[in-house]
Order: sequence, then C-alpha cells, then structure tokens
Amino acid sequence: MEKYVKILKKNDLKITSQRLIVLQYLDENCIHPTADQIYSDLKINNPSLSKTTVYNALVALQKHGIIQAITISGSELRYDIPHGMHHHFYCKKCGKIVDIDISCPNIKKMSEFGHKVEEIHGYIKGICKECLKKGS
Ligand SMILES: [Zn+2]
Ligand SMILES: [Zn+2]
Repeated sequence: MEKYVKILKKNDLKITSQRLIVLQYLDENCIHPTADQIYSDLKINNPSLSKTTVYNALVALQKHGIIQAITISGSELRYDIPHGMHHHFYCKKCGKIVDIDISCPNIKKMSEFGHKVEEIHGYIKGICKECLKKGS
C-alpha cells in the first residue's frame, strides 16, 4: 500500500482507504474494468464499500491524471492506470480491451511544432484472436 500512498501524496490527494484499494485494484488488474466491475470485485473483501465511494474515488484519481478512463466501447467507461502511453484494441465480440504498444509518429510531429504531448489515445476495434478461433 506504501506505493499507492506515495502516489496520492504526490498529487496532493487526501489519503483514503477507498482511493488506495481502487488504485491497487487497477494496478494489479490490467483488464480495463468498468466502475461496476471494480465495485463488485472490491465489495467481496470490503463489505462496507458503497458504489458511490468507488465512483468518487475514480473521479478524483482521474482528475489528477493518476488513472485514465477509456471510452472505446462507446457505451461505458473503462479504467486503466497508464503505464506509459499505449493504444487500445477493443474486441467487439467479447468486450475485452488489450494494451497495444505503438510508438506514434504524431508525438514526434507535435514536438516538432513545439507542442508537448501528454496523452495519446488510439482506439483500434476488431475481433480478438480468441473470438476468431471460437468463431471458425
Ligand atoms: Zn474477443
Ligand atoms: Zn491500457
């Protein structure tokens, strides 16, 4: 938990146990979960946890750029701790989101113009290889 306390401190965020467990959950589960998914998983070991608290923790963490919300599916927000810039591949069949490491040529172009790129979101959609295997 020390690691997460440090992250909150660095961003001048009040340290609450809810924020800590949400951060830890996202750090340990790179599945790009929805808020509901995070809530129901954390609820198992934290029976007193409320949905609102989880939502509020997510909003606060996102505001400070500690986590990012991905709107790739078009209908729901999926949460992610950005371990460096990466793109996302979304499977239209099973809803899985996979991290894609691509060095984006636009980053270089932007810095040539004198701009500083802080975030880049590439959304790639298709059918994942597991679903393709099942389908054929
Ligand atoms: Zn799939
Ligand atoms: Zn990701």
